[in-house]
Amino acid sequence: MKQLYFTVGPTQVHPKLQDFVKDAFDNDIISIGHRSKKFDELNKHTVEALKSLLGVPKDFYVFFVASATEAMERLIENCVEKNSYHFVNGAFSKKFFSIAQSLKRNPAKSEVAAGQGFDFAGTNIPKDCELVALTHNETSTGVQSPLDQIYSLKLKNPGKLFVLDIVSTVPICQIDFSRIDCAFFSVQKAFGLPAGLGVMVASESCVQKSFVLQDRGVNIGSYHNFPSLSSYARKHQTPATPNVLGIYLLGRVCSHYSEYGIQKIRQETEEKAQFIYDYLDKHPKYKAFVEKKEWRSPTTVVIGTPDGSAELIKKLTANGYTVSSGYDELKERHIRIANFPMQSMANLKKLLKLL
Ligand SMILES: *Cc1c(COP(=O)(O)O)cnc(C)c1O
Repeated sequence: MKQLYFTVGPTQVHPKLQDFVKDAFDNDIISIGHRSKKFDELNKHTVEALKSLLGVPKDFYVFFVASATEAMERLIENCVEKNSYHFVNGAFSKKFFSIAQSLKRNPAKSEVAAGQGFDFAGTNIPKDCELVALTHNETSTGVQSPLDQIYSLKLKNPGKLFVLDIVSTVPICQIDFSRIDCAFFSVQKAFGLPAGLGVMVASESCVQKSFVLQDRGVNIGSYHNFPSLSSYARKHQTPATPNVLGIYLLGRVCSHYSEYGIQKIRQETEEKAQFIYDYLDKHPKYKAFVEKKEWRSPTTVVIGTPDGSAELIKKLTANGYTVSSGYDELKERHIRIANFPMQSMANLKKLLKLL
């Protein structure tokens, strides 16, 4: 049976994707060289469309890499000599922490159980910490951290680089980039694109830090280190042959979202989220895993499955709805559903009815 994807990423692709890919063929996008003028213009267009959609300040860099996971590794390599600090409440925030360990830094963490958020105001970040890593929306558990609390923490900790994983909330969340130092994402979630492109939006302070580490002889990596990424980005280029089609498609989706109206998309997401959580709050069996309303993610909803998730997933698939299972050790205990712009209210209602 033909499926509608409610998976939390990769997910249902954007309905315009087929047109955009056709345009890429018709305009030779897939054949052009990455040192050509045509690529410079394409790259520049995508960066401008993205910055305009998200409200990124002019002086921030946009770096293209392979995935969000690569962005985590690059950030640790380029911005941490010794100490990073991580807020860990699920699989993705844990991965960021373990990347810092693998790279032989000395990460510390504040860790809470799955389904919980953090007491940011009550957290004392060690003085010698250089970078604070936060996952805005922990996709594995459906917990979202309030941005105002993150900004306040940054204010209390000047001089430390604040880095935000926004993979499963961008462009739904409205980030004030002037109050953080870097945010990163990949495109297979709320942008509804095929996987294979990671994006870092980084301030000059991140790049400056990488030069300091380089001068001190720290290994900051090679072709995708920040000195290299930034010098190519200034020329609207990339150090290696990038995912040209992915960069093109991201530009198209950003322009499309802007034309449709990003505030309208955000409001529709909010309305759909409200509907889902109201439904679950009234459901006799299937409840939202995250109890505290303040922490409930509007974009990735985790639902407890007291009888295991396998049978329910089977039933939904048989009806044409593919959802995500719980993540890792929570596989059997949850299903997860996406509420991105591609998931319409009409289809969400049909899916929820099956519960
Ligand atoms: C999906 C996801 C990632 C990983 O993205 P990749 O593109 O596979 O590296 C990281 N963080 C969060 C919060 C995610 O949802």
